[in-house]
Amino acid sequence: MIHDEVDKWVDQLIEEVFEDGKQPTIMELSQLFSETKQKFFGACFQTLIEQKYAGLLDQGYAPCPQCGKMCKKRRDHSKEMVTMQGPSALKRPWFYCVNCSYGFSPLDKVLEISRKKHQFDVQKKATRTAAEVPFSGGSELFSELTDQGVSDHFMHGTFEQVGEYACIEDVIPSQQEITKRCEEVKDSSWRPVLVVASDGAHVPTRAKAKRDEKRGKGQWQEAKGFRIYLLGKDRIVHIASWHQIQNEEQFGQDLSLVASRISQDDLRIGLLGDGADWLWKHMVACFPEGRQILDYFHCAEHIHKVGKLQYGEKTQKCLEWVESTLTRLFYSEVDNVIWGLQRMNPRDSIAKEEIRKLIGYLENNRERIHYRGDRIGGYPIGSGGIESANKFICHTRMKRSGAWWVKETGNAMLRIRCAIYNGTYNKVFEKYKNGLLPL
Ligand SMILES: [Zn+2]
Repeated sequence: MIHDEVDKWVDQLIEEVFEDGKQPTIMELSQLFSETKQKFFGACFQTLIEQKYAGLLDQGYAPCPQCGKMCKKRRDHSKEMVTMQGPSALKRPWFYCVNCSYGFSPLDKVLEISRKKHQFDVQKKATRTAAEVPFSGGSELFSELTDQGVSDHFMHGTFEQVGEYACIEDVIPSQQEITKRCEEVKDSSWRPVLVVASDGAHVPTRAKAKRDEKRGKGQWQEAKGFRIYLLGKDRIVHIASWHQIQNEEQFGQDLSLVASRISQDDLRIGLLGDGADWLWKHMVACFPEGRQILDYFHCAEHIHKVGKLQYGEKTQKCLEWVESTLTRLFYSEVDNVIWGLQRMNPRDSIAKEEIRKLIGYLENNRERIHYRGDRIGGYPIGSGGIESANKFICHTRMKRSGAWWVKETGNAMLRIRCAIYNGTYNKVFEKYKNGLLPL
């Protein structure tokens, strides 16, 4: 039967290509294949299933998956499907258990048929697409690239459903996988550094509006997150990223879950963060042996700010003061810098306030400023790692102009993007698919 379908397809191709006076180009040929193959694949699908599962298609009785009672076939029920290969239909027996008021088709379980028209292969790719491009217009792009027409509504809905199944347990690689990644960078002459970098990024959010209700006023909320990676002798191996719009306590719980999957004994650990106290509290609790390093770029930003206010932007004096201050900090001369700040004669009240804040910041983080020692030991001093992860995970998708996120959808987006980045998207999707399969 499939051979017959091939013949039909070839006949159609020949007819089109050799039509009088036609000289199709590669592009036109490709287009012709795209258009005609859908019908061919659809027919193949049906034929293959009918041959392979003939027994299930002829079934007259089947046990109820809920109570086990034998049920008689009620009727044949046709299921319209769309896969990445195009549309197809499947006529299969349908049973109904009166005890449980439950209708079922045993074949659906075997074939893992989705209740939706678009099957799981389409759902998986559509969700992957929605993680990269805006929902509006995403379906158009998807249809254009795959020849499978899907709606914005389908893309958005499926994305949110997959997002519900994406929990931290699956988004973060397993203990076994993490151990494997650690083994990759081990070297007899180098003890790898496990870098734990935490940060917050602001995401534009709005409250979920009810039907016919005006959209609520937007607000910026902090997505708290971390990136964990290994610094090998000559390369960086990513371990895990996790970002969520959430409070400090949840952040701590999430970090501790990841920490429990990492065997910390054979590693040196570097903790990187800006000055935020909440962040240090949790990093130290989860990685007690970690070397605390105040992110150099955040620190430098504070120095630049005071230099600018006190001496004027880009003046010679400002540049000199910033340079010498950063050099002193590089050599751990924190007290020296504080002493100098205390003796500074503020230019105005704004400068005075910033100087006061900088002194507090340096005093708070005194023990975390030792950049020269970090460099010698092979520790990173700046969280370029998390900055780029933040950019990749949050900003590129979350901070599009005009995009305001409902917290739940925003968090689903962050979880799925983290899964893609962590290499766990397949696992997350499996979980979603298995959660929706018939009994
Ligand atoms: Zn039953």
